[in-house]
Amino acid sequence: AHIVAEPCFDCKYTDCVVVCPVDCFYEGAQMLFIHPEECIDCEACVPECPVEAIFHEDNLPDEWKEFVALNAEEAPKC
Ligand code: SF4
Repeated sequence: AHIVAEPCFDCKYTDCVVVCPVDCFYEGAQMLFIHPEECIDCEACVPECPVEAIFHEDNLPDEWKEFVALNAEEAPKC
């Protein structure tokens, strides 16, 4: 799955949401989250993010690894 990471905090651009073919972005209080069971890894959102906050989980920088669990926990609550 793809993961929304730290740069999304307080960003609120939704360019990624618009291009997602399966509507798997969810809006939290401070950032967006991707539902990992709904994401089909199409990559459409990655170049659209103006702050480069979206990564395939395999390419996620080490300092943001906790965002894997955060997206999985928070997306279903939104
Ligand atoms: Fe949606 Fe594709 Fe991005 Fe997954 S990789 S969140 S399916 S646009």
